[in-house]
Amino acid sequence: MLKTEEKVFWLVVGSQHLYGPETLEQVEDHTKEMVESLNKEANFPYPLEYKALVTTADEIKDVMKEVNYQDKVAGVVTWMHTFSPAKLWIPGTKLLQKPLLHLATQYHKEIPWDSIDMDFMNLNQSAHGDREYGFINARLRLNNKIVVGHYQDPDVHKEMSDWMLSAIGFVESQNIKVARFGDNMRNVGVTEGDKVEAAIQFGWTVDYYGIGDLVEEMSHVTDEEIQETFEECSNMYDMEYRDNDQDFFEEHVKDQIRIEIGLRRFLERGGYTAFTTNFEDLHGMKQLPGMAVQRLNAEGYGFAGEGDWKTAALDRLMKVMANNISTGFMEDYTYNMTKGNEYIVQSHMLEVDPTFAETKPRVVVNPLGIGDKEDPARLVFDGKAGEGLTVSMLDMGTHYRLMVNTFTAETPKEDAPNLPVARVIWKPNPDFKTGIKKWIQAGGGHHTVATLVLSLDVILDWAKLVDIETVVID
Ligand code: MN
Repeated sequence: MLKTEEKVFWLVVGSQHLYGPETLEQVEDHTKEMVESLNKEANFPYPLEYKALVTTADEIKDVMKEVNYQDKVAGVVTWMHTFSPAKLWIPGTKLLQKPLLHLATQYHKEIPWDSIDMDFMNLNQSAHGDREYGFINARLRLNNKIVVGHYQDPDVHKEMSDWMLSAIGFVESQNIKVARFGDNMRNVGVTEGDKVEAAIQFGWTVDYYGIGDLVEEMSHVTDEEIQETFEECSNMYDMEYRDNDQDFFEEHVKDQIRIEIGLRRFLERGGYTAFTTNFEDLHGMKQLPGMAVQRLNAEGYGFAGEGDWKTAALDRLMKVMANNISTGFMEDYTYNMTKGNEYIVQSHMLEVDPTFAETKPRVVVNPLGIGDKEDPARLVFDGKAGEGLTVSMLDMGTHYRLMVNTFTAETPKEDAPNLPVARVIWKPNPDFKTGIKKWIQAGGGHHTVATLVLSLDVILDWAKLVDIETVVID
């Protein structure tokens, strides 16, 4: 996976001085014990660190300033072990610029009826403190997450883990830089969008380059570098010559590898983590990037075709949240409308993400009907089965909209000897007709980012953090 910086989450426990130092000591001990237990039992994707017990407005402000300032901190979890008057939280919470999770939990699981007294009640009053604290977050209109339950409950662990992924998405979204080679495909509507608003709302940088800039980079790639990657590919994939003679095949694969190395170098130098291409803009290129894109997807680069920078950035975002497992750019292509076995074939003209591959990818060199260039090399495979969801981002003119449709993916049973692209089969939820009708009605695009690993909660929590309208078809 293309590297991101190491991240941690901080836990801050709230209280006040009314209860005396002995109670505060106990609060701190319990919190440390809870954090240790969570890290051991919860299988979090990122570590949770105990940061501080806070009892004054200044302490709260200081810790929130540090959360903002420290790049390694992706978000903060707060716990009200006791009652912490919420006016104390206003100055610090107003400054907070990172995701906040309010963990409504408590130290004990069961009420000890035979020993409970007022000391116990004062020490363990999350039910009381949660409401006071929650009020001020609601009043400040924070997009915070609330997780309720005992901290040893696996459901709580799962909810916290999902929130961590959406928080990582939120902070990493600020670092997404998309290089677009060429503009959007002529006359296409859904791939357009307001780049200034995307920078403000999601933190995305979207830069244009002429394809000649890539061609120039490719001209510096050496034959030795190409040979090295060719050998790597020979070990990773099956080389499928089909009707091509060996020289023709290898030459075309090597031309594609030149694109790959040039692209990677260009993106690395500019700090880009996503990119787009457009088959209408290939001046100086021998082939449309195919296998080159797919191999960069496998490394974690976001991508979408036809200049679709929104989907490319979304691809990178979701790859970061999914740790680049079974997540990538997809396109709705063609329907199977047999009653009782309706489905959509998902593919693209070349660039299907190999993180979806169920079968070992085969390298195929085949003519491409559009683009008017030489036969591009591409990876061909069948996609994995499983429950997943797909996401599309639309510019509605007044605001951005995020659409999500859950689906069941199936590995194709039939061979498709004449189909030279990777393919995946989806059955949309709640059923074929309703899923597709609602998708079309709300303007859902043909370019999406699909995932077989991220839950709906992760996507919706991220959407809440960036204040984007959502339409969910489940
Ligand atoms: Mn497309």
